[in-house]
Amino acid sequence: MDIPRIFNITESAHRIHNPFTPEKLATLGAALRLESGARVLDLGSGSGEMLCTWARDHGISGVGVDMSRLFTEQAKLRAEELGVADRVQFIHGDAAGYVADEKAAVAACVGATWIGGGVAGTIELLAKSLRSEGIILIGEPYWLRLPSTEDVAKGCLANSISDFLMLPELLASFGDLDYDVVEMVLAGQEGWDRYEAAKWLTMRRWLKANPDDDLAKDVRAQLTSEPKRYAAYTREYLGWGVFALMAR
Ligand code: SAH
Repeated sequence: MDIPRIFNITESAHRIHNPFTPEKLATLGAALRLESGARVLDLGSGSGEMLCTWARDHGISGVGVDMSRLFTEQAKLRAEELGVADRVQFIHGDAAGYVADEKAAVAACVGATWIGGGVAGTIELLAKSLRSEGIILIGEPYWLRLPSTEDVAKGCLANSISDFLMLPELLASFGDLDYDVVEMVLAGQEGWDRYEAAKWLTMRRWLKANPDDDLAKDVRAQLTSEPKRYAAYTREYLGWGVFALMAR
């Protein structure tokens, strides 16, 4: 079981697989006023940077579930590197339907809400692992500017304009699900650049090392087209943030 191999290639050098910088991730951890020993569940935990740095900085304990074998291995190594391997556990597997044995103070899905079939389904899934008065974290894109055509949405790698909302509507949609938005940290263009542009050097080096790979043609095509596509579309039209929610 694994995610499509292309992501394990293009994001192999990423520690954070979303448009947050390390500073934003730290800002979010501080904003949540995490208590030492609090349990954090992270579905789609990637390379584990959130759980590992929050364990180091705030003394939380946590469980992360991710379907990428590579990212999960990297998460375990990072936990050892930061000296928190006794407090955070990373499980390789499908997080769809995952419910923790022990209820968490914080249950997160940051940049992987397809795991629950969209934002509403993911909130419902996370709520099953959450103790009362716990916080749900959802990392999700929103439109900075509404695309004028469906082609622009496709340029942002969305299926359609209706995939995402504008920020005010996204915030209101959490209210419609009977959740208070109690905090939010939003990514900036700098963070988007770190997330997207970091893939380009990774692709370039991977191509040099793997010229005859089955995916070499695809990776070559992406490396050629991505800088312009990203600058024309994603960078101009898409925002991204992590929203902290508490049930009303
Ligand atoms: N939250 C992490 C990773 C976000 S990228 C971070 O912000 O750094 C999306 C992640 O979802 C990837 O790590 C991918 O491997 C994982 N993923 C995709 N489908 C999944 C599934 N069904 N179950 C668990 N993880 C999944």
